[in-house]
Amino acid sequence: MPDVARRVSRNLDIVRARIAAAAARVGRSAEPITLVAVTKYAPPAAIRAVVDAGCRDLGESRPQQLWQRATEFAHGAVHWHLIGHLQRNKVARTLPLVSLVHSCDSLRLAQAIDTAAAEQHGPPVPVLLEVNVSHDPAKHGLAPDELAGLLPALAGLGHVKVRGLMAMAGRADDPAAARADFRGLRELRDRLRQACPPAIVLDELSMGMSGDFDVAIEEGATIVRVGSALFEGTSE
Ligand SMILES: *Cc1c(COP(=O)(O)O)cnc(C)c1O
Repeated sequence: MPDVARRVSRNLDIVRARIAAAAARVGRSAEPITLVAVTKYAPPAAIRAVVDAGCRDLGESRPQQLWQRATEFAHGAVHWHLIGHLQRNKVARTLPLVSLVHSCDSLRLAQAIDTAAAEQHGPPVPVLLEVNVSHDPAKHGLAPDELAGLLPALAGLGHVKVRGLMAMAGRADDPAAARADFRGLRELRDRLRQACPPAIVLDELSMGMSGDFDVAIEEGATIVRVGSALFEGTSE
């Protein structure tokens, strides 16, 4: 096995062991937790290696890079996740390629997705609502107290399927602060569920990156987005 493949396979084993340990600490099964391999800084050989090792969910934060990387795999061979900001003028080209948009951060974007999906006669587009849990003006995302008011309008979009919430911790270097942010997202989800239109499902919580996905799983993450922990040691 080439060095890059061996390294990725070892990193993947470590990440999966961390996922299993975190789930076990809170009495959850690790099996339904989705690991998204974030490929934004990974070289092509390492991306192929992670897919060959059995991780078929890949995430990109920039639409153009996702378009380009998607051409390197047969359609349907991997599930692409868009995890970064989506400009409305890039929606039409992105939709046919992605299985989940984690970063729906405004009603206008949701409406643009709805319009494009209708025009393309495609299936409803699964999205997560990105929440700015840390109230950081430099971050994208809906304000936590804005969400409840948007749900009825989102429920009326026939070509958008809201499946849950996504967030980034305010400070990736501080697990205690990250835990508070992740818990805040879960509690927000639990509150929203009490008065949620039936067309909206809030089952998924996309939270946790290389430095804090253990804590995120302890707080209820169903999807973790992991880049550097999977790909470290693979680029020159
Ligand atoms: C880059 C990125 C990640 C992965 O970060 P790592 O620290 O490399 O694991 C996760 N989520 C988003 C939104 C990102 O942009």
